[in-house]
Amino acid sequence: MRWFRPLAVTALCTTLLAGLAACTTSPTGRSQLLLMSNEQLGEMGAKAFDQYQQKLPAADAPNQRYVQCVAQAIVAELPAEQRRQNWEVEVFQADEPNAFALPGGYMGVNSGMLKVAENQAQLATVLGHEVGHVLANHANERASTENATELGLSVLSSASGVDSASGEQLMGLLGMGAQYGILLPFSRRHESEADTIGLELMANAGFDPRESVALWQNMQRAGGSAPPEWMSTHPSQGQRISGLEAGMPQALDAYENARSAGRTPNCSRP
Ligand SMILES: [Zn+2]
Repeated sequence: MRWFRPLAVTALCTTLLAGLAACTTSPTGRSQLLLMSNEQLGEMGAKAFDQYQQKLPAADAPNQRYVQCVAQAIVAELPAEQRRQNWEVEVFQADEPNAFALPGGYMGVNSGMLKVAENQAQLATVLGHEVGHVLANHANERASTENATELGLSVLSSASGVDSASGEQLMGLLGMGAQYGILLPFSRRHESEADTIGLELMANAGFDPRESVALWQNMQRAGGSAPPEWMSTHPSQGQRISGLEAGMPQALDAYENARSAGRTPNCSRP
């Protein structure tokens, strides 16, 4: 039963759950139902990151330095709460062009993604987008709105940690339990929101926002007839590129301001 449709969220927020759940507004102004706490999500993020680390070998030091350099520039532009977080950033040796950011302060990039992202600004596009999902609480929102009914609100509100039975169930819901399924099949709305946030972040950090369009074109080319997982969970390329182009004048202004303010990242790509 799926009665937690987006349209119903506002109504739910104002009535049924007003005293119980966190109803909030996303960075782009959407009404959101968020039933899980930051602590719960942070624990899940930590566990999922740990699983990823156990399954994949780390890439070499120059690649680690390169991605950390770009990640640092992005993190410096985050809102205070997330900026102060101690972000763990790691590059994994894996051909699939994948990347993710997780609640709790974790970023991972597969070495295959570093071939698709041809320069630091394109990598900033990837990281900005992934961090955008985290800033906008998309994992929390998805679990809360789509699955609250099936799981039962009591389970959601009583889940104390990822090791409990209900915690395992939540991990599954978030797509963090199985294989490398750390990335969620985010909705189109979540995708454009992450694009918007990512574009702003990269421009504020001093990366050329026009490279975002090039990155998505590279992703499409890399995909061929069977798109890589990262792309297949990120649908609608045409819409995505027109969305980025719509935000470009503002992003270019932010980029110019960042450059004049001395934010000129220079991360050397191995
Ligand atoms: Zn995404």
